[in-house]
Amino acid sequence: METQLTASPLGLKRSFGFGDRLGLATPGHIAALKSQGSGFLPIFAQQSIREMTRTERSATEVMQAAIEALKADGYTGVWGADADHLKNEQDVKVTAAAGFCFFTIDPSEFVNNAADTLSKAELEAEIKQQNAEQLYGDASIEARYLNQSYDLGGQALSFDKKTLWRAGVKYGRAVAHCERMAGFIAEANPHRLFEIEVSVDETDSPTSHLEHLFFAQELRRRGVTIVSLAPRFIGEFEKGIDYKGDLKGFEVSLKTHVAIAREHGPYKISIHSGSDKFSIYPVIGRVCGDLLHVKTAGTSYLEALRVLARVDPEKFQEVIRYCGERFSEDKVSYHISVTDGDIPGLMQTPKSELEKVFLDQDPGRQLLHVTFGSVLTKGKAADGTPFRDHLLTVLKAKPDLHIEVLEKHLGKHLQQLNAG
Ligand SMILES: [Zn+2]
Repeated sequence: METQLTASPLGLKRSFGFGDRLGLATPGHIAALKSQGSGFLPIFAQQSIREMTRTERSATEVMQAAIEALKADGYTGVWGADADHLKNEQDVKVTAAAGFCFFTIDPSEFVNNAADTLSKAELEAEIKQQNAEQLYGDASIEARYLNQSYDLGGQALSFDKKTLWRAGVKYGRAVAHCERMAGFIAEANPHRLFEIEVSVDETDSPTSHLEHLFFAQELRRRGVTIVSLAPRFIGEFEKGIDYKGDLKGFEVSLKTHVAIAREHGPYKISIHSGSDKFSIYPVIGRVCGDLLHVKTAGTSYLEALRVLARVDPEKFQEVIRYCGERFSEDKVSYHISVTDGDIPGLMQTPKSELEKVFLDQDPGRQLLHVTFGSVLTKGKAADGTPFRDHLLTVLKAKPDLHIEVLEKHLGKHLQQLNAG
């Protein structure tokens, strides 16, 4: 068999997204998949528009990096390519042209985060407006969704008026945007199979079960078929570190999300910010079964920095100091716990402990996680060379070490997801 040089849709099989911000991680990702990834189909090219902007890479470069690595490996399996967090038609066009075939729609600009705290009267006013605009077609939202029971295979859900209004206010316009985006995706792929994910993970409040159900019903009514949906879960899914929250509560909540996805799709549940959530992987793997997609990205960048830490600790320290300076600006838009007040203390870390503090402990990891764009596009070492060039030179000089750390770290992800 030959390497497939184009990505393909992966369908309703459990899958794992290996985001690669540097373009050199795929060999390590392949190694992790081969050693621990039984049962998972891989996405080897995965980058959000935000990541491409921050790293100044094009969709074509992201795709080419993956293809080159797959060719070099002689990889013969199917693989996917995820154009992540697409917000508009232009995002769709450039990623479709580069050969991506998994399109993640991010309708967050149309999610009304205030819905959770609006009064009944305020909700009613917006719903009246939506009904007047025929957001729900030729029937009102109430006629469509009240007085019905939705079977989840063993349990059933139904809307009361206020919950329905809240769901409509929060997500009604977001689903309408998804339909528009799905149209752009179909237009951009006239002769190619593709699949669509919808992500609402980057919103202010968790997606309740009824809101998820509402979203699923509305997507179906509008004729949008999705392969996966990323809700915002309860608890904290912070970048680059383990889950924070009640494990039992998470499991109970996830079961219902999966039941909605199974009975009212079917589609996969997509876990965004999915890296390093080791405490919940066995639960996720067990509860979701085949209806699972996991996305990771920044964690592979941190493993690249681990190579730098071991090969050139001086340079790693320079990177860390630079990240400390960049933090207060770069942290905006990220969901993290480390604060400006933590930075001076972190900067006192002795050189012998840099890898441990910045790559194995939460505050250090988050500092390096959120500053990747600055490091890869603006940061320069004392000798004037861009950090990015240093990093790429080191990774190219030590491919075996790079593969080793990625295989270990991503392999642990897959192993734990298979451990439930
Ligand atoms: Zn996301």
